[in-house]
Amino acid sequence: PPTIGVLALQGDVREHLAALRATGARARPVRRPGELAEVDGLVLPGGESTTMGKLAERFGMLQPLRDAVRAGLPAYGSCAGMILLADTVLDAPADQVTIGGLDVTVRRNAFGRQVDSFETAVQLAGVPGPPVHAVFIRAPWVEAAGPDVEVLGRVEGGPADGKIVAVRQGRLVATSFHPELTGDSRVHALFVELVREATAMRARDHASSAGA
Ligand code: GLN
Repeated sequence: PPTIGVLALQGDVREHLAALRATGARARPVRRPGELAEVDGLVLPGGESTTMGKLAERFGMLQPLRDAVRAGLPAYGSCAGMILLADTVLDAPADQVTIGGLDVTVRRNAFGRQVDSFETAVQLAGVPGPPVHAVFIRAPWVEAAGPDVEVLGRVEGGPADGKIVAVRQGRLVATSFHPELTGDSRVHALFVELVREATAMRARDHASSAGA
């Protein structure tokens, strides 16, 4: 099985490790560049994106994270993790640093005071079965998505009707919500499958260049 890291600077690391293991993947926390180099995919957990960005800088992880994502490391960002992967962040403090790579504009804390935290069912493309139970906690939404971004899910009904809350672009996946808090590992399974494919593709590339 692939080995998937969870960026463990801040946030709900433990829950993501458990959700990944429930899919049959190996999962381990990642705090240092050396640990990042050893994983086949990376989860950026929920938490507080400004704090995570600052800690990544302080631990010498920011550039390695940017380089890894640009080099094609599969990554899945949940909530704060979605913000870290976004190319553009609205309502961010001036000193917010991000990893980037995902061609979206996200708005932080987008759902506003009244619906700061809420739960609803979201139907996700690529996730078989009933809609996932989506838990939103001071969540961002995707305000604009580039042409290569596939929208996987939107809120249906209520004040945020139609807002994009799950996306994929190549090897990057992001959700506004927290599947790791629900005991349903289907979103993690989708990501693990993507990592498996990316890992197999890399192995083929290596084999063919070695044979050349
Ligand atoms: N509001 C947080 C941020 O901007 C995200 C909240 C979360 O991850 N649950 O980073």
